[in-house]
Amino acid sequence: MTINADPQELAKFSELAHRWWDTESEFRPLHQINPLRLDWIDQRARLAGKRVLDVGCGGGILSDAMARRGADVLGIDLAGKPLKVAQLHALEAGTSRVDYREVAAEALAEEMPGAFDVVTCMEMLEHVPDPASIVQACATLAKPGGWLFFSTINRNPKAFLMAIVGAEHVLKLLPKGTHEYARFLRPSELARACRDTGLALHESCGLQYNPLTRRYWLSGDTSVNYMLACRKAV
Ligand code: SAH
Repeated sequence: MTINADPQELAKFSELAHRWWDTESEFRPLHQINPLRLDWIDQRARLAGKRVLDVGCGGGILSDAMARRGADVLGIDLAGKPLKVAQLHALEAGTSRVDYREVAAEALAEEMPGAFDVVTCMEMLEHVPDPASIVQACATLAKPGGWLFFSTINRNPKAFLMAIVGAEHVLKLLPKGTHEYARFLRPSELARACRDTGLALHESCGLQYNPLTRRYWLSGDTSVNYMLACRKAV
């Protein structure tokens, strides 16, 4: 099987991995949006007691938080250093119920089809060569009736301005080159990839940022950052 990953992207995340849990680092945006996405997911999927897979988990910001809500979480990624940082954080913070593995979503889908009540894949699809293949793997990994949550960045002039010019060049929230415009995904494209694998689109939600107050909030505006909630047919 050819691996659906971009080695340069994985190297980029490995290089920064030691700062993953520094809430003032380049990972500040992930720390800031975490309570918002965690509640959005929990309100729909009721995490306590559920078996959860977090695809592209990185240093484990969301995986760890879901485990703390009482889910049994497996976080997977293809970058080794972020996974080590995630493991170390779980040890230091005493988070039980979380485990991490270096494995491709497609490979895990062959190994554990239908194993998870909930599959999350956040801020990751815009870093892979073939996002539809990841969506397909996530769908295979979910149990019938299971929940799937995806987040990524929309592709339009406003998203270019906010997510690349604004975030990387003006506000310097993220290192230059973090995101590549051509890899952004329109909600319609992501929804089609979901439908093509038999998932039913349940809901979408936008994530907005005010650079003056430096605050994020959830809204109906999916023009830049957004999330989709889907369900696998029973
Ligand atoms: N999902 C986490 C981290 C987002 S950063 C969060 O939202 O908090 C993007 C992550 O995707 C990085 O950890 C990177 O290593 C991972 N990634 C990139 N390409 C990947 C691939 N093909 N398979 C698995 N993980 C990948």
